[in-house]
Amino acid sequence: MSDLEIYVHIPFCVRKCAYCDFLSGPADEDAKARYLTGLFDEFRFYAEKLKSAETRKTITTVFVGGGTPSSLSAGQLDSLFEKLHSSFGIGKEAEVTVECNPGTLSAEKLSVLKNAGVNRLSLGLQSADDSELKLLGRIHTFEDFLREYEAARRTGFDNINVDLMQALPGQTVEKALNSVKKLLELQP
Ligand code: SF4
Repeated sequence: MSDLEIYVHIPFCVRKCAYCDFLSGPADEDAKARYLTGLFDEFRFYAEKLKSAETRKTITTVFVGGGTPSSLSAGQLDSLFEKLHSSFGIGKEAEVTVECNPGTLSAEKLSVLKNAGVNRLSLGLQSADDSELKLLGRIHTFEDFLREYEAARRTGFDNINVDLMQALPGQTVEKALNSVKKLLELQP
């Protein structure tokens, strides 16, 4: 028996941020549907490989990152996790994370993720200062983040990490610390 960690990349975002070097970008519904079909084929391929492997594997972590996985629809997220579970048999002890960006979450998506066994959210805030968010080309304000963070808490997510960026062009120490302080108040 040995451990296995799964990373699933969702390369879609509502809009490309000004600083972004990741493999990601906007896409139409057709491209998303075709990508998911290909992804589910990959799941089948690797699930077969694992079945025929000599050593049994225990999935310890699943990380669905991007891009913006939360830019998929609730139905697409539901299918993604249904296929992940049926292909790999992810147990309750595994840490299952989904990367989400403010401006793309809804009560419906949060409840799909919760019911699918997701037990950790990673929220890309980057700054609590709206002028910095604008400079970065982010699609959301700090208020948008707060609304979705609180909705995630209400849905029962008790393990949430929040990304912040530091050393932004023109950023003062005071501004950087202000973002950290605002976040600490939320106890992520
Ligand atoms: S949300 Fe993240 S992955 Fe998407 S464009 Fe912005 S930085 Fe890149």
